[in-house]
Amino acid sequence: MTFDHETLPLLAEALKDLDAGFDRLPEVTPRVDVEGIRRVLNEVAERLRDNYPYQHPQYIGQMLKPPHPVARLAYSLAMFVNPNNHAMDGGRASSRMEKEAVAGLARMVGWEEHLGHLCSGGTMANFEALWVARELQPGKAVAASSQAHYTHSRLSSVLQVPFHPVPVDARGRMDVDALEKLLQSESIGTVVVTLGTTAAGTVDPLDRILPLREKYGFRLHVDAAYGGYFRLVEDLREETARAFAAIPAVDSVVIDPHKHGLQPYGCGCVLFRDPSVGRIYRHDSPYTYFTSDELHLGEISLECSRPGAAAVALWATQQLLPPVRGGEFAAGLEQGRAAALELHEWLSGDSRFVPLMEPELDIVVWAMWAETASESSRRARAFFAEAERRDVYLALASFPRGMVEPAGAVGDWDDESVVCLRACAMKPEHREWMRAIAGRLEA
Ligand SMILES: *Cc1c(COP(=O)(O)O)cnc(C)c1O
Repeated sequence: MTFDHETLPLLAEALKDLDAGFDRLPEVTPRVDVEGIRRVLNEVAERLRDNYPYQHPQYIGQMLKPPHPVARLAYSLAMFVNPNNHAMDGGRASSRMEKEAVAGLARMVGWEEHLGHLCSGGTMANFEALWVARELQPGKAVAASSQAHYTHSRLSSVLQVPFHPVPVDARGRMDVDALEKLLQSESIGTVVVTLGTTAAGTVDPLDRILPLREKYGFRLHVDAAYGGYFRLVEDLREETARAFAAIPAVDSVVIDPHKHGLQPYGCGCVLFRDPSVGRIYRHDSPYTYFTSDELHLGEISLECSRPGAAAVALWATQQLLPPVRGGEFAAGLEQGRAAALELHEWLSGDSRFVPLMEPELDIVVWAMWAETASESSRRARAFFAEAERRDVYLALASFPRGMVEPAGAVGDWDDESVVCLRACAMKPEHREWMRAIAGRLEA
């Protein structure tokens, strides 16, 4: 069995509780075609078998972390009401839970005062941050590292803002000298700093970029969609810790609870340090916001209808596992990171594998040793397929020559990029499973 069945009866229990809150109303008997639903549902289960086993520790490929049972159950429970966090009219309790959950994330990044809300994911969250930045400094460009998520160049084009990629060092972190040269030659309004790149989990040196803001005056946006929760981890490398410690000084931050925060998809978060940017969202919808003077989240969000269930799930998860240092949730992140370091060490001891860098967070990337770049890529693809045959699920990612060459995996450069193997050790269970996983990889 790979799924947790034990908690499912809790949903029926809690649903009765929820129902009791409405028993002043006349009885209705919802008509449901139980047999029809059973038939379709079984067909769904059958079809969903065609997936990688994301829930299992032997899945260590893409950024996929199973939602916590409490998140699944709270989400399901909320769906019976199906609140819409656009306005208080659409969901009072879930809107308040969203404000509380978002405040929890803001405290995690070091802010008591803030403005923020949940949204569909990191793309939308980054979009809002870049949009606010554009409204505050029209005509100015966005800069992000060449290892930043591709969404930034695409979002800049949607916003019709010029975009400048900044080169990275051999470990995939923004090159601060190159950034300064760019700041001297172009009119940069916003620098996007990635704390935890999607491909390799590397961390831009935010602490060294901050002083440039004093000199050149730009907005600092942190894309921590993936890495944000590592603010809670205490055993980071010193330079990584310095970057995370600098977050409170930036203007906006994006964190995806659906990446590392144990949430189902559809849960991103954007946070602004200055609450007054809320004025940029102003609109005058004639048909919402009549029932209360409390803040309606739709007044500070670009998306209109939003799932209250996502807020309820995040709130419930944070009640059980508060996002604080030294807590159980933080310990889970530390275990994943320890698993990544163990995998890195194991790979380093075998001449067939060439890790590109020591993991900064919990992602491990390595090239296959080969005479030529194209042969290295071919071996990586073959290894990926062979691992899958042994029920270990990895991912592939392509890296530029500049990040592979220093590791010494390749003799002859017949290609400017190399396909590498990538493992995201995001589940706490990866700690105890790593030996078994390495055993299968060895085979
Ligand atoms: C995943 C990710 C995004 C995109 O977020 P989605 O939730 O997939 O829309 C943006 N930036 C970084 C650094 C990411 O890891």
